[in-house]
Amino acid sequence: MTEFWQAFCEFLSLEWGDLFARLAILTEETAAQMNITAHKTLPEICVYHILDSVSVADQIPDQGCVCDVGTGGGFPGLVLAILRPETEFTLLDATEKKVRAVERTAQDLGLTNVRALCGRAEELGSRAFRDRFDLVVSRAVAPLEILAELCLPLVKSGGAFCAMKGRRAAEERAAAKKILQTLGAKERICRREVLQSSAVLSAISALPADADRALIDAFCAMERHTLVYQKTRPTPQGYPRSFAKIKQANRPKREE
Ligand code: SAH
Repeated sequence: MTEFWQAFCEFLSLEWGDLFARLAILTEETAAQMNITAHKTLPEICVYHILDSVSVADQIPDQGCVCDVGTGGGFPGLVLAILRPETEFTLLDATEKKVRAVERTAQDLGLTNVRALCGRAEELGSRAFRDRFDLVVSRAVAPLEILAELCLPLVKSGGAFCAMKGRRAAEERAAAKKILQTLGAKERICRREVLQSSAVLSAISALPADADRALIDAFCAMERHTLVYQKTRPTPQGYPRSFAKIKQANRPKREE
């Protein structure tokens, strides 16, 4: 049984079913008011946000502190906070209105282990939250070679960085090798998540969504990879650089 299957089983035990159902509805309401996600319908939110977020649940410690960098509408952070009530979550995003929406949702759900914070990861990683979290997780924020520098400075030495990646995972992994080394990160897990429509269908039946088979097939056909790095030493001086410098260092090399 893969970890994803295990996570699904955990999910299906439905101790948290009601919270997930409410999260789906609150996210649908927020998505109707502001642009937090391309997935706006209830079935899409249940599948692309809630279930997808469950795929990294087995990486989340059941105590300590976790940061979700670029949480957007609260994913994967809100889902993980529901699954790990004893762990403190900081849901970080650079956009104020998204942070306020996440804060409202967390309050409506009664999640006392969530703090929504507006700020830029590379700035917090230089000062306030440098070498602080047990784990930093992130989905759909930047290519790994950039994301590593946004996230790893926030992780304490001995902690972990978990990146949720899509079909370009192998390329991104290769391109990020040097910066990962510089930041003292050692690869611990690189796994492809495989899931089947039937499992997703049964999971979704517990949620308030009437998802059609085509949506679920499309979700299952997407490539997804979980990459986990262990941080072996404190962040070296001079890192993280400013976002302009990080971007410049990672500019795609032009083929002349
Ligand atoms: N993780 C969410 C949102 C992805 S969209 C999901 O998977 O659904 C990317 C988000 O990252 C945006 O909301 C953007 O504001 C935020 N972001 C981008 N760069 C950032 C940075 N340097 N620090 C903090 N947030 C950042």
